[in-house]
Amino acid sequence: MSFQQRIDQRLSERRSAGAYRSRTISENGSGREISVNGRQYLNFSSNDYLGLSRDTAVIRAWQEGADRYGIGSAGSGHVTGFTSAHAQLEQELAEWLGYPRALMFISGYAANQAVIAALMQKGDFIFADKLSHASLMEASMQSDATLRRFQHNQPDSLEKLLSKSDGGQALVVTEGVFSMDGDSAPLSALAEKSRQSGAWLMVDDAHGVGVCGEQGRGTSDQQRIKPDLLVVTFGKAFGLSGAAVLCSESVAEYFIQFARHLIYSTSMPPAQACALRVALQQVRKGDDLREQLQHNVQLFRRGLADTRLQLMASDSAIQPVIIGENQAALDLAQNLRDQGIWASAIRPPTVPPGTARLRITLSAAHQEQDIQRLLEGFYAAINA
Ligand SMILES: *Cc1c(COP(=O)(O)O)cnc(C)c1O
Repeated sequence: MSFQQRIDQRLSERRSAGAYRSRTISENGSGREISVNGRQYLNFSSNDYLGLSRDTAVIRAWQEGADRYGIGSAGSGHVTGFTSAHAQLEQELAEWLGYPRALMFISGYAANQAVIAALMQKGDFIFADKLSHASLMEASMQSDATLRRFQHNQPDSLEKLLSKSDGGQALVVTEGVFSMDGDSAPLSALAEKSRQSGAWLMVDDAHGVGVCGEQGRGTSDQQRIKPDLLVVTFGKAFGLSGAAVLCSESVAEYFIQFARHLIYSTSMPPAQACALRVALQQVRKGDDLREQLQHNVQLFRRGLADTRLQLMASDSAIQPVIIGENQAALDLAQNLRDQGIWASAIRPPTVPPGTARLRITLSAAHQEQDIQRLLEGFYAAINA
């Protein structure tokens, strides 16, 4: 089969499975509202959990950073792309999260790829929660290590796998808060099992950091553990983009030598690092924002509790409503859209087959009346 035939065939398979994806052109998609084709919607699909993407102090920091450093970093961090703004941000992140070192990456995707590729070798094992993010899974499959998946959030399942693996080093991989289900990993139990068998624990806390824990330090702080490798990302609660890996002194030095994503890729714009430093301050003193977010979460969950809609065991900003069939999820999303509410349907392969869902995300930027409108939208849709 030629490239072209293969492409045509796979596109038509996608279409007939009701899984065809297309992108939507939006204006200001990050705030509490989103506008698409000239129409305004309440936005329940962004990951801007604290509303920081519109924070005036963060925006000003970006502008001042651009004035001072220029727009781009003009090189990888190993050449000219590691500025005082990057260095200060790394230091502040390490201090905040209680690690000797933090290393910046341009995205969470890159950070996960880089860490797993640099660390793992043939004969090693990766034990990953079944529902781990695509970036973790893909990196694991591409590495020379053997990948085994444990049952979602089940330390006993991990223990069984650990006991059956001999030789080689083992890395246990999980998310802190799961991106499609919104539930938290039992980190202290996973840390205990890992420690008992000499494995390292890597936690990707993309959706926990900023949202929970003391000063927004995330899921591992909340559960009082310290993973060997902690990945935090800035595209969610920080309202920007980028990521950092928190680790020991020697592990950081190791990644600087061997993590190809650091060496062969342009570093993040210094202005972005300046903005992230201010976003970090806002996150640290953001108890009011976290309270508002929790208030919205509880309001939403109470509002749907007595309906036939199925929520998940989540107290995070991610509140999936499980529908099942792809088309039913798309129809519900469209129904809400007709009512001025933007909520994305998430389908397989992003989530397991038969669990298509509306992934509702709430933000501190939402007001009580926004949540009311969302609930009324659901009531109207299920009674239609
Ligand atoms: C979003 C996300 C990533 C990817 O981070 P980016 O910075 O968007 O590349 C990685 N892991 C998890 C769990 C995520 O939700």
